[in-house]
Amino acid sequence: MNPLQGSTPNSSAPDHRTADAVVVGAGFAGLYAVHKLKNLGLKVVCLEAAPDVGGTWFWNKYPGARCDVPSLEYSYSFSEELQQEWTWTERFASQPEILAYIRHVAQRFDLRRDIVFSTRVTSATFDETQKNWTLTTDTGLRVDARFFIAASGCLSAARTPDIPGVMNFRGPIYHSGQWPEAPARFEDLRVGVVGTGSSGIQIIPELARVALQLFVFQRTPNFSVPARNRPLQRQEQALFKRHYPQNRKRASESNDGMLGLGAPTEPTPSVDELARTRTYIARWEHGGAAAVLTPYTDLLTDRTANETLGEFVRGKIRAIVRNPAIAEKLVPTDHYIGTKRICQDTGYYETFNQEHVKLVDIRQEPISRITETGIMTSHGHYDLDALIFATGYDAVTGPLLAMNVRGKGGLRLADKWAEGPKVYLGLVTSGFPNLFIVTGPGSPSVKGNMVHSIEQHVNFIADCLAHMRDNRLSLIDSDIEAEERWSEHVREVAERTLFPLADSWYVGANIPGKPRVFLPYVGGIPAYRKTCERVVANGYEGFHLQ
Ligand SMILES: Cc1cc2nc3c(=O)[nH]c(=O)nc-3n(C[C@H](O)[C@H](O)[C@H](O)COP(=O)(O)OP(=O)(O)OC[C@H]3O[C@@H](n4cnc5c(N)ncnc54)[C@H](O)[C@@H]3O)c2cc1C
Repeated sequence: MNPLQGSTPNSSAPDHRTADAVVVGAGFAGLYAVHKLKNLGLKVVCLEAAPDVGGTWFWNKYPGARCDVPSLEYSYSFSEELQQEWTWTERFASQPEILAYIRHVAQRFDLRRDIVFSTRVTSATFDETQKNWTLTTDTGLRVDARFFIAASGCLSAARTPDIPGVMNFRGPIYHSGQWPEAPARFEDLRVGVVGTGSSGIQIIPELARVALQLFVFQRTPNFSVPARNRPLQRQEQALFKRHYPQNRKRASESNDGMLGLGAPTEPTPSVDELARTRTYIARWEHGGAAAVLTPYTDLLTDRTANETLGEFVRGKIRAIVRNPAIAEKLVPTDHYIGTKRICQDTGYYETFNQEHVKLVDIRQEPISRITETGIMTSHGHYDLDALIFATGYDAVTGPLLAMNVRGKGGLRLADKWAEGPKVYLGLVTSGFPNLFIVTGPGSPSVKGNMVHSIEQHVNFIADCLAHMRDNRLSLIDSDIEAEERWSEHVREVAERTLFPLADSWYVGANIPGKPRVFLPYVGGIPAYRKTCERVVANGYEGFHLQ
């Protein structure tokens, strides 16, 4: 028997399937996992809660949704034909274009036949006798498989704050991360947006174009920089494509998996203030968060250095927003620039110069409840016809814990991670054999071009499964000490930076009761990849293989 294949009890029942590997999620990660594992000759079943492929780009259909990694880079590199044949129309692609691309990939590589849509995994249990995972779902479908690949996303568990009265609101309520299929209309309506993170900052200028009145309920201002989005010229795209492999390789050598404007080589004190300001202006004009954050080596490690950039951007906000009192409310002062996910916008700050847009600072006037007709704060009532929550996600761990995962001895993942997740290389967590997490906690994941990290992870997993097949091995788990050492390393690397100082979703600060642990690995993509390569070269060091 092929050691990778699961056992096949009662596989004829329609609500019971068996596979070698079950993949949860059909976004960038799940689709590539299905493709790679099928190519290994494995029988794969993919379970997806949404009715279609796309993941993030299926769910986030809100007006203004787009990526902030350049389109030519925010795409798969595994197929030269694919990257040559697809044409991107803008520097930063919009949600419809990214979704069209993902649908094209699913079609081109014939992946849909292996996906069961509109099916949410509600439990995943490891059976030590059978050496199998059993996944149950909200449709009654059960899948048994030797391997469980969690490609359930880092930003797929949408979070709505617990505001009293929300059920009473008579108008439509939307969450940016669960946007409906049917087009939502806001023309001539009084619209409230709660939340000013990346999604809020993208939605707000779009809504201001059509809404009668727009009320922006802001708890914490975030730094945002202009995207300077524009159509891609045919020639520049052709040139980029001519050198695609070289471009991908160069990007993989940068800390965030993106080409950017090149890695910084000198710290801020190496130049005088005038030269530094000139650089900041040039980067601001170039556009894109990556460009603004990377001119100097010490911007995310040294408070004084960081403040030179922070003050520059604060000055820009004050210059754009005409009303000084509103500008002050929009100026972030509670965190170092870049230590929360920096936003990228098109006309965000300018939106607040429009008469019909009102900023409501809910630190000064907290929301007390939602009524049938709007939002009541400590200062009064805001009449609304529609309400949008752009309040983010239970990031990175949320989708995994929501699956009610149980490992050896019935151990609940939620209990194992009660003090914070421990995951060797962000891939495998001990006591949960044959479970692989794509872009899990402790991997670079959300700190860079995620498609790049997804491909690297899925390649690692597929190579590992091939190694197991070739060596007639059927179980993999992580060594508990290796996992501890890696978690400690992830923590230490983060502590050398300013990141852990911010109350961001990177540390779970947006979720009441979530343990405060810095979730992604910020040692950079090349360092992470080299560690993975060394682990493999040393015979999967730190893993137990049986
Ligand atoms: C608005 C927005 C903009 C972004 N922009 C960028 C960007 O510019 N650059 C970048 O690198 N990253 C960006 N990201 C991050 C983005 O999530 C990743 O780039 C990438 O799309 C993740 O792909 P994935 O397949 O890992 O996860 P996802 O795309 O999140 O897919 C996970 C899938 O798993 C499914 N799933 C989860 N739990 C279950 C369950 N229990 N049962 C069944 N199915 C389940 C979900 O329905 C979802 O479809 C952005 C995220 C958001 C929300």
